[in-house]
Amino acid sequence: MIQLKNLSKSYRVDGKDIPALKRIDLNIEAGEIFGVIGHSGAGKSTLIRLINLLERPSGGTVLLGDIDLTTLSTAELRLERQKIGMIFQHFNLLSAKTVANNIAFPLQVAGRLNKTEIQQRVAQLLELVGLSEHADKYPAQLSGGQKQRVGIARALANNPKLLLCDEATSALDPQTTQSVLQLLLEINQKLKLTIVLITHEMDVIRTVCDRVAVIDGGETVEMGPVTQVFLHPKHPTTRRFVFESEHVDENKQFEDFAHVPGKIVRLTFIGESTYKSLLGDMARDFGIDFSILAGRIERIKGTACGQLTLAFTGADSGIAAALARFTAEGIDFEELRAC
Ligand code: ADP
Repeated sequence: MIQLKNLSKSYRVDGKDIPALKRIDLNIEAGEIFGVIGHSGAGKSTLIRLINLLERPSGGTVLLGDIDLTTLSTAELRLERQKIGMIFQHFNLLSAKTVANNIAFPLQVAGRLNKTEIQQRVAQLLELVGLSEHADKYPAQLSGGQKQRVGIARALANNPKLLLCDEATSALDPQTTQSVLQLLLEINQKLKLTIVLITHEMDVIRTVCDRVAVIDGGETVEMGPVTQVFLHPKHPTTRRFVFESEHVDENKQFEDFAHVPGKIVRLTFIGESTYKSLLGDMARDFGIDFSILAGRIERIKGTACGQLTLAFTGADSGIAAALARFTAEGIDFEELRAC
């Protein structure tokens, strides 16, 4: 659906070129929800604005399907952009227009439908985002969540193939964030719409994304399925996101366990294995003991996942047999301390 190839962007500040993005390569598949996470200044906004060419890249290509957007004339680009909808952190609604007229606006600009057809399309979109009763209100009369729903309806007006979300829930409270994310999931499934979102919030990625790219200093430092990236974070930036979201100081976590005897192991469960009663069985079968040092179970895009940090005590052979059992059951483990 979208391929970014060797994409870079520099801004000229005080006569010097300051790189904001460096050699980005991304393939985004049709129908997926792809997240880009990074701290402030990482280059997220620049990246999303390069996808629809709101910013011109300094180098590289942006392919939408097989069309290289960087080679198009202004008129051709305007047409291609109709395949791309966008929503924003601060909604960017027209305050002097009603909800219905905000949604009608891109349809009027595109000029393909007559007045009655536009009214019908607006009614459909209002229903899709759950705002049919608010058609005649003005943006100032709506809550933040409702304003973002108008933003979504407006972005979908011309039946785009791709929806870009620029920190779309960052101005919303946690409950409203969840309801907007559920709406995004619903339209992704119902309309088979590809979604690219940028955020600095792990929870947003965990709730809706299939794959994630972590960017730092204008570069992609880690990328993959969300479960893989967040359960086995490798790059320090990804690790920081994961540990921050768990309120754990990665550097100090072992200080608490210094007095605990035994081999310390972190187990990672994904899907079915999360709920198996393996630990008790294993302790009995191999005559070993364990204490739980830390643990959590969460859902990553609907899949149950768990991580448990355990200290095993007992005979070395028993512990080795237990670890072999985990491998046989498809459970990943990482040895954090030998004994
Ligand atoms: P993020 O969205 O991750 O916070 P941005 O893409 O906004 O990051 O910014 C990436 C880098 O590019 C930052 O160092 C920022 O200061 C710089 N930058 C962004 N936009 C401009 C601009 N219009 N002019 C100059 N520098 C910019």
